[in-house]
Amino acid sequence: MSQRANSRPKPEICIVGAGPVGLTLALALADAGIPCLVVDRGTAPMSQSTDFDGRAYSISPSCWKIWQALNVSDALEARTLRVTHISAESAGGHPIIFSEGDLEDEGGPLGYMVEADLLSRTLYRRVTEQPLITIKQKCTLSGISVAGTGIDLKFSGEKTPTHVSLLVGCDGRESTVRKQAGIHWFGHDYNAKGLVATVALERPHENAARQSFLKSGPLAILPLMNNMANLVWTEHSDVADVLSTMSDTDFEAELAERIGDFIGGFKLTGPRYTYPLTMRVAENFHADRIAIAGDSAHTIHPLAGQGLNLGLKDVAVMAEKIVEADRVGLDLGATDILRAYDDARRPDVLTTAFAMDGFDKLFSAASPIRTLAAIGMGIVGDIKPARQFLARQTSGEQGDAPRLMRGKAFSLG
Ligand SMILES: Cc1cc2nc3c(=O)[nH]c(=O)nc-3n(C[C@H](O)[C@H](O)[C@H](O)COP(=O)(O)OP(=O)(O)OC[C@H]3O[C@@H](n4cnc5c(N)ncnc54)[C@H](O)[C@@H]3O)c2cc1C
Repeated sequence: MSQRANSRPKPEICIVGAGPVGLTLALALADAGIPCLVVDRGTAPMSQSTDFDGRAYSISPSCWKIWQALNVSDALEARTLRVTHISAESAGGHPIIFSEGDLEDEGGPLGYMVEADLLSRTLYRRVTEQPLITIKQKCTLSGISVAGTGIDLKFSGEKTPTHVSLLVGCDGRESTVRKQAGIHWFGHDYNAKGLVATVALERPHENAARQSFLKSGPLAILPLMNNMANLVWTEHSDVADVLSTMSDTDFEAELAERIGDFIGGFKLTGPRYTYPLTMRVAENFHADRIAIAGDSAHTIHPLAGQGLNLGLKDVAVMAEKIVEADRVGLDLGATDILRAYDDARRPDVLTTAFAMDGFDKLFSAASPIRTLAAIGMGIVGDIKPARQFLARQTSGEQGDAPRLMRGKAFSLG
């Protein structure tokens, strides 16, 4: 813990948004002895049902290490599935299959399937156990003004502004912080929705995550505990709306017809959810005394389950920059720190966003292009170094990873 921690009367950093990115950032800062205030317009996830609601995230090994470093993963472990194979295939093509052996250095799983609701509750519990974190719920940001050495934040229902050195927007795709900072984004809507559903499988899934590039869009089948699978099915918005409201029996029949024998017999086990899909990347990830992270800074096509992973990498990099500055007593909202964060994250975010966009376009293209793409996949699948390269990208391995992505807590020195 930083030596300055006990002498600090109030938080110097305010995080708006208590989603997985905002809460992970708060835990990372607190681990380094830096107090922070977290505000969210919603209420505590604790009050929600403890049953699995059907939504799950695929998390790369390097992002899982962030939660290991912050003592979050232990509480998730019992209900988290380790993905040992990933296969990607296009109709009529030859699949690329990655397995643990394709990660030359470390071995270990290619990813982890984490239940979304369990993750929210676990992060929230850890945050409430941390004396350096103050959390305010049902609270929205209504105004900001940069004031000399800090930034004044106005919250709904409060007369006196809160003064901090740094405001971090982790408030999701419609980010108020991003809008109030005047940060523009570029990208487009896919005119498609991601339909999420959970099915019980008849055939053992053998811990394999499968991606099928159907003509209408990609369909991911992600393995869960108890031989269940989470489907992320991309469809045109109007079709997805129909699919999400039809009866369970009609939905099962539609799914069976689209995917043939791809996953064998299955039964729907819970509600269906739809999410409009967009690719948006903020033109800057910082402004004066403001930084943005997670979906506030970028939303991407979910075909390879990389959105939250990108947000967690933002956290690892931002926390490292802030902690380095804190250790030498610098202003935590200084432009140099925020620019260094932006510079470090932008290449990875852009590469991932455009790669997902490209895959989606390639495999939803007219037939000859799809056929070529499918042949291309077969060729890549046959070349071991190419497979190893793709496996490393999928697993989030990076040469020069920040401390948290190497599983090292700040509190360990
Ligand atoms: C279909 C689908 C499947 C996906 N699957 C995966 C996957 O397998 N793996 C993966 O890595 N990613 C996946 N993603 C992406 C992932 O869901 C997001 O990247 C992730 O949820 C972003 O987290 P966040 O904390 O940035 O934002 P959010 O989860 O959106 O949290 C934002 C928080 O901010 C609060 N908030 C919003 N506005 C305000 C305000 N004005 N004032 C105060 N509080 C506010 C909200 O209440 C919320 O708590 C998927 C996305 C979709 C659509």
